[in-house]
Order: sequence, then structure tokens, then C-alpha cells
Amino acid sequence: MLMSSVPSVSLVLSFEEARRVVEQQAAASSAPQIETVDLLNAADRVLAEQIIADRDLPPFPRSTRDGYAVRSADLSQLPATLDVIAEIKAGETLERIPSNIPSGQAAAIMTGAPAPSGADAVVMVEYTSERDQRVEITRAVARGENIVPAGAEAREGSTLIPRGACLNDAAIALAASVGKSNLQVYKRPRVAVLTTGDEIVNINATPGPTQIRNSNSYSLAVQIAKAGGYPVLLPIAPDEPQALRRLVEEGFLKSDLLLLTGGVSMGRYDLVEQVLAELKAKFFFTGAKIQPGRPVIFGKCGAASSGRDARETYFFGLPGNPVSTMVTFELFARPMLEALAGMSPRKLKFVHAKLKSEIRVKPGLKRFLPAILSGEFEGSQVELVRWQGSGDIAATATANCYVVVPEEREHIKAGEYVPILPRTM
Ligand code: AMP
Ligand code: MG
Repeated sequence: MLMSSVPSVSLVLSFEEARRVVEQQAAASSAPQIETVDLLNAADRVLAEQIIADRDLPPFPRSTRDGYAVRSADLSQLPATLDVIAEIKAGETLERIPSNIPSGQAAAIMTGAPAPSGADAVVMVEYTSERDQRVEITRAVARGENIVPAGAEAREGSTLIPRGACLNDAAIALAASVGKSNLQVYKRPRVAVLTTGDEIVNINATPGPTQIRNSNSYSLAVQIAKAGGYPVLLPIAPDEPQALRRLVEEGFLKSDLLLLTGGVSMGRYDLVEQVLAELKAKFFFTGAKIQPGRPVIFGKCGAASSGRDARETYFFGLPGNPVSTMVTFELFARPMLEALAGMSPRKLKFVHAKLKSEIRVKPGLKRFLPAILSGEFEGSQVELVRWQGSGDIAATATANCYVVVPEEREHIKAGEYVPILPRTM
């Protein structure tokens, strides 16, 4: 009998405990395979090598202004007049740069040009006037002002970007600056998506009066891709154990991570946990004290009792309500997926904003409520969207974040600063 193999002890954890369990499993997962990509295709990929500085950055003392390279001590009396002995533009050849700027002399210099020896500061051109090879300066400079010393940004041989970093625009710029036209990155993990439910139909089908189109596979595909995975959509599974089991096994074989949606609550036709138990899955938790998303399941399973493959695959059973699916992906599936994608672990990102209208909820669950963050700078504020609960995709599509309500809170007054989990954009 299927029911007997479902874990008997309660594995419903607090949000924090559930996160910790996911983080532990994520830390224990092994590194994915590596591929080489062109720098222009490397954005948002996870770096599988270290990027090392091939020379000092900057490679020479770099002027950050257009102006005059001077000895700062020469400007103790103002205005000061100095002889202009050279002009140094960005990219100037070494032979044309004076070997020394003696006291009483200066060199005209441009932004990005190497500051000559002897000079210890650059005066901005705005505070100077030049006539007949002499410059009058009306403003003093501190030693070092407007010059970035060679190697101040990075020393030759130092690590600029560590393995496991996700490549953003600045990282790509750094890689370019050290001449890397190709980068070694981790292969994207394959994430199988298996949606369950007798009422769920394909989006190309015309739904009957009591049927619902499958939206979860599509929101998950977006979230998976943004988290660095490659989504593989499986056919919709009916609420029938044999067919469900076949598709779960197919999911395990085809993927590095299996995400199921629906069928994890207490209803008579919620069969996901039973089918997984039958496949000898190990469950880390079978619920978390959150809303939306309480019935979320996390575990791992040896490759589908097929015996062909000793590998174990992690899975999440995400609740079927569309908003629950989105929220539980962000909170739990994302960190696991990022680890399988080779990424170094990172914490959830929260911002804080002022609450526009009060919140009243029952205590006992940590809540992630769809909300709209609006305004700018000091004027930003956040307000919950009016919704019909975790099935309400229409309201949630207007939200750009989730307000986090701690489990002990019943009432949060307008004007209080609340933590916000930004929505994946
Ligand atoms: P379940 O978790 O299976 O009890 O489903 C909870 C709710 O989510 C039900 O109203 C389902 O019809 C709905 N639901 C489940 N799967 C999907 C899906 N793939 N797309 C849209 N709605 C879904
Ligand atoms: Mg269902």
C-alpha cells in the first residue's frame, strides 16, 4: 500500500531551518562540467576558472583628470607659476614622457595618461591658465590627488574574479581588461519540470469548463533560466500513481534537478510524496512554516530505481498554486540550482522599505506577500497587492516584490520599515 511509505515523522520545518537544510545540501553538491564560451556570450554564466591580473591595474600611475602633473609642494604659495615642459596624452609613448618633473616645472596631462616621475599630483585644468609654456595655478592639490598609483586597483598575479562567480557586466569588463576573449564556465544544469494534476491542460488545448491551463511550467522555466539552469518541460502528469511514477522516473533520468508542481497538499489525489517514497526517496523536509508555499517538499532520490545510474538527483515538490510555486522556487529551489550550476553560495537579497498601509495577518507562518514597491530614494514605499490568495496570478503579475512578514507578527503599522524580497526581474 502506497500510504505506508510516506515519512511518518513530521518534517515540517521553520523557514530558517528549511533554508539551512537546502544550504547544507547545496554546499555538498559536486561541481558541474565545464565548457568554453566567447566573452560576449559569458554574461550571467558561472565562472569555472579564476581570472588573474596579467599585469598591475592600472599598469602605470594613471591621471584621472585633464590638467597639469605637478609636485604638490610647488603649490604652497598661490597663485603659482610653473614651466610647462611636456604634454602627455593617453597612450603616449614612453620616449616622449619626461623622465622627471623637477621642482618649478609641470607637464600638461590628459585623463588616462601616465603621470611622469617626480609629479605627485594632477591639478585640474579648470584651476589653471597657460600662456607661452608657463602655467598659472590657482588651487593647491594634495599629494596623490587625481593620480591612481600603478597596481592600486590590483596587483599582477592577484585573483580578480574567483571561480564560482556569476558574471555580471563589471566582471565581463574585468575579464576583457586582462585580455580573456574566451572563458571557462560551468555547463548549465538541466532542470526537469513536472507539473501534476488531472485538471491541468496544455496551453495549446482548449480547456474544458473545469480545467486550468498549465502556467506553472512556464513561470518555472523563466525562474530556472534566470537562476542559470536549462529547463526541460515534461508532459503533464495525471493524479494517478503509475503514470505519475513513470514521469517522475523520466524526470530523474533526464535532469540534474527535478521540480514537481502540485500534488503535495493533503488532498486525496495529492500523490507526489507517496510516489517519491515508493521510489525510496530521502526527504529532507515535507513542509515549511511559510505562506504561500507551506506544503513544499525537498529531497533526493537515487536514479529512479532503474539501476542504470548510481547518481542521486535532488527534487523539490512545489505546491501547485501558481504564487506558491514561484515563491518556493525563489526561497528553496533557487539556492540548490545555483549550487548545481557551480555558483558560490549567496544569501537571499533583501531590501527595506516603508510600508504604505498596515498589514494584519494570523501569526505562526513567515509570509511572503506580493507587493508593489514604488517611489524613489527617500520616497520609496511598499504596499501589498490585493489578491485572492496564492492562486491569483493576475494580482501577482502586478507585484514587483514580496513583503516578508515574520511569523510572530500579527500587525505591522503603516510607516514601519519592512523587509522585502525583490522579485526576479
Ligand atoms: P495542488 O497543489 O495540486 O493541490 O494545486 C493547487 C492549485 O494550483 C489548484 O487550484 C490547481 O489547479 C493549481 N495548479 C496546479 N498546477 C498548476 C499549473 N501547472 N498551472 C496552473 N495552476 C496549477
Ligand atoms: Mg493537484
